[in-house]
Amino acid sequence: MTTTTTETTARPIALFDMKAQQALIRAEMNTRIAQVLDSGAFVNGPEVRELEEKLAAFAGARHAVGVSSGTDALQIAMMAEGIGRGDAVFLPAFTYTATAEVPLVLGATPVFVDVAEDGFNLDIADLRRRVAMVKQQGRLRPRAVVGVDLYGLPADWPAILEICEAEGMFALDDAAQAFGGALDGKRLGTWGHATALSFYPTKTLGCYGDGGAILTDDPARAELYRSLRTHGEGKTRYEVERTGMNGRLDTLQAAILLCKLPLMEQELAARTRIAGWYADRLSNHVTVPRERPGAQSAWGLYTVILPDGTDRERLMAGMKARGVPSAIYYPKSLHHQPAYAAAHATGLDNAPPLPVSEGLCPRVLSLPMHPYLDEAQVAAVAEALISGL
Ligand SMILES: *Cc1c(COP(=O)(O)O)cnc(C)c1O
Repeated sequence: MTTTTTETTARPIALFDMKAQQALIRAEMNTRIAQVLDSGAFVNGPEVRELEEKLAAFAGARHAVGVSSGTDALQIAMMAEGIGRGDAVFLPAFTYTATAEVPLVLGATPVFVDVAEDGFNLDIADLRRRVAMVKQQGRLRPRAVVGVDLYGLPADWPAILEICEAEGMFALDDAAQAFGGALDGKRLGTWGHATALSFYPTKTLGCYGDGGAILTDDPARAELYRSLRTHGEGKTRYEVERTGMNGRLDTLQAAILLCKLPLMEQELAARTRIAGWYADRLSNHVTVPRERPGAQSAWGLYTVILPDGTDRERLMAGMKARGVPSAIYYPKSLHHQPAYAAAHATGLDNAPPLPVSEGLCPRVLSLPMHPYLDEAQVAAVAEALISGL
């Protein structure tokens, strides 16, 4: 399509659209849900196992363990490593709150690392610098790096792994926004020692409630995850081998995900197509997200960087008046959050500033992104954005 139009299309433009997808699989879902209702196996039913096998196959990982949320996926993965007091966990300052919350809940210390403006993910040079500082200051043990694939864009995993291997650290991939993304032809799911997924409804694979999974190639880790999600149970149900949690995935959510997973390939292709339409229309006006060479984004979110000095509130209000929703992920860098500022202040003496994370917060804007946007809708979003700049 070459013409641009201000006509609003018949379907309202949604930031995320779960209805269009639901219409495609509603009948099958009703059947699957009824089967669970009939079986009464609401926890650890056969659907959970079936989903785990299919998730592992999709991502090319040996094991998948279904859990209760993306946050619990991160927590169980860190509990399995024994991460706790005295441990430094390196993670981006520009990410969702859960990434930082989990090490703190376990008694460990998050060390915030700046991100690269190009790609929004861990800045490798800054990561190296902060690992060296933690070692030199000697109060905390460098223990883990949580790489986040923000907005679906894969982080620089080869570089993260190299640092983790050199320092004996655990590499955890927070792929909550990036299921379906790939790097060098290999899907996210096996780049880190473990990969955490979220099935929150708006993620690239979402259920109708909370859910998550941990992917790994390591059978010993997978076994630990299964134990930890069920109160640390041992070989028999009433033997408690370790302190765990209640972190199981509901059978009903697994049944819903089993209906959605077969749509993933076509939905990822649609997201990629939509990202291309956006880039064509917007790249002369704002900074559009770009995949690094070899990377395939899952396009969980489509986030642009606005020109310096843009009045973002006014822009968003103007877009909204034209029927175009938008959102801010994230308005505040984590080291500025009241809950995390103290950890940031005590973790590292003379911590270097985090200028890129701080600079992104006032300038990012996430546009509607879901597989059921058509080109006219993308054109309408682009026009509303451009006309409000
Ligand atoms: C959504 C998300 C999580 C948490 O997942 P929940 O399922 O909501 O607990 C963690 N990290 C990132 C980057 C996320 O986007």
